[in-house]
Amino acid sequence: MRWSESYLFTLKDKPADAEIPSHQLMVRGGYIRKLAPGIFTYGPFFLRALKKFEHIIREELGKKGGVEILMPMVHPKEIWEETGRWKEMGAGLLKFKNRNDQEFCLGATHEEAVTDYVRGDVKSYRDLPFNLFQIQTKFRDEIRPRFGLMRGREFVMKDAYSFDVDKAGALKAYEKMYSAYEAIFQRLGVDFRIVKADSGNIGGDQSQEFHILAQSGEDELLVCENSDFAANVEVCPAVSEPVESSDSENPLEKFETPHLKTIDQLAKALKVPSQELVKTLFFNKAEPDSEVFEPVCVLTRGSDEANPIKLKNLWGLSNPPRLLSDKEVFEVSGAHPGSCGPVGLKMPVWMDHSLKGRKNMVVGANEDGYHYRNANLGRDFKVAEFADLRMAKEGDLSPDGKGTLKSFRGIEVGHIFYLGTKYSEKMKAQFLDESGNLQPIQMGCYGIGVTRSLQAAIEQSHDADGIIWPPSVAPFDLHVCLLDPDSPESLQLVDSIEKSLHAQGASIFVDDRQERPGVKFKDADLLGFPLRLNIGARSLANGEVELVDRATKEISKIKIAEAPQEISAAVQKKKGTHVH
Ligand code: ATP
Ligand code: MG
Repeated sequence: MRWSESYLFTLKDKPADAEIPSHQLMVRGGYIRKLAPGIFTYGPFFLRALKKFEHIIREELGKKGGVEILMPMVHPKEIWEETGRWKEMGAGLLKFKNRNDQEFCLGATHEEAVTDYVRGDVKSYRDLPFNLFQIQTKFRDEIRPRFGLMRGREFVMKDAYSFDVDKAGALKAYEKMYSAYEAIFQRLGVDFRIVKADSGNIGGDQSQEFHILAQSGEDELLVCENSDFAANVEVCPAVSEPVESSDSENPLEKFETPHLKTIDQLAKALKVPSQELVKTLFFNKAEPDSEVFEPVCVLTRGSDEANPIKLKNLWGLSNPPRLLSDKEVFEVSGAHPGSCGPVGLKMPVWMDHSLKGRKNMVVGANEDGYHYRNANLGRDFKVAEFADLRMAKEGDLSPDGKGTLKSFRGIEVGHIFYLGTKYSEKMKAQFLDESGNLQPIQMGCYGIGVTRSLQAAIEQSHDADGIIWPPSVAPFDLHVCLLDPDSPESLQLVDSIEKSLHAQGASIFVDDRQERPGVKFKDADLLGFPLRLNIGARSLANGEVELVDRATKEISKIKIAEAPQEISAAVQKKKGTHVH
């Protein structure tokens, strides 16, 4: 392809609203253009990368028996009401009415749609198992779309759904998808980790996420230094050293703390580490959008954070519970946050495991400006439940006991779930088993953020000058900077290189604009194809052309007579050997 025949507009300056390098570079390189917040046009070059990645996905899913379909992106309200998710998904589902006042939403995920599809066809155990997938545009009305395609409102997802007769079959399907995903991200050529994850709104009780590691990642991952244990911090079990205090219980004593509002201020004033203090929080133990008001007190060490996802799962909610407002805290405890504690509360108190065994604790007195010293469990207050309520953190013992945890930032690019019968029961997707009994189908669901993965690959692979595409999905394999675009010799050489590359299925992009070499080199670096070839009158006179490796900037001189073969070989090598 020639620049002059293409649609490509690069920008010198980074767009004001792009915070992270991959977003800046994609806009500067003309790969994406914003139509509205979180909604983008994919330019012709990004579309090439997208198609290559989709091809990898199709091949790997095909190897595991995946069958491709394409479902509607507009869904009737009724199917989402069958599962209760019309309400549960909240404002993330974009809902609207048609001219007949019928309600619809844009597909944010397709468990309901696919279950409806399948229940119409499947009758017997003989019809199972199978695995359906699609690559399609999703819409989620994200509160804060940002970072370009990373958190878009409209984005491309690959979603797959497995259907089996029993749990063993469903877990086998899960394992197959796990290995397909491993192969997909290996072929993409990125550094990724697989971690235990929360099932979120999707449901089910086993789930893992695939993360591309990058500084700007929105997720924190905790990985054991010595084993393969890895989890999203949202669900990572927190291991706490047991406290075995042999201190005797001292008398409860109220003392003034007029200006001490935070744990840090209190720790400083009392000259004790915040870890030795107790943090008191109040949550509503009900769905965040419900009318029910059921205040619960949660206690952790002063240095810890309560984990709302763990609370959600412990309390059987579908969304994380909300913290009480300052006003509500005052109403239920008699004090404002900063002076609250468990003594005298009329509500259940949940205590994190790490506080078990503590004696003579400092806690808020439920009176503004006062704390208690020597508060003791049993004597001064009661605990309804001990549980793992806190965020695990770097330096904690790994739950598998094999070392300590290290923290990484990751971008979630894939997510696999074992669902069980959550959807099939509610939507009556059933089959007759061998004994003639009706059974709900066992399901799994599996997503890849296709557009997010590509941007995440760029976030992981770029330098100050531009993108360094993984060769597997680079829009073109070779970028030719034609320095004298009118020279017939140059054009002839380009033609023979192009023929040789096309013969092996490789692609070539030729910058044939009337521009200075410096401008062309800058754009080539920005666009980031794996190899660049400089062809100009001077190089032709010397009988040599320059091949530049985008990643290492290494230059090799190639004799013109051997150029077509040598360049084909170099392209082949790039494609074949790239492993992150
Ligand atoms: P997140 O936690 O990032 O909001 P999610 O857990 O809600 O994502 P899933 O329901 O697991 O997302 O969707 C499957 C995949 O789709 C995700 O792993 C992610 O790669 C991608 N994805 C989800 N939301 C977005 C978005 N707003 N923009 C781009 N890709 C997304
Ligand atoms: Mg997810």
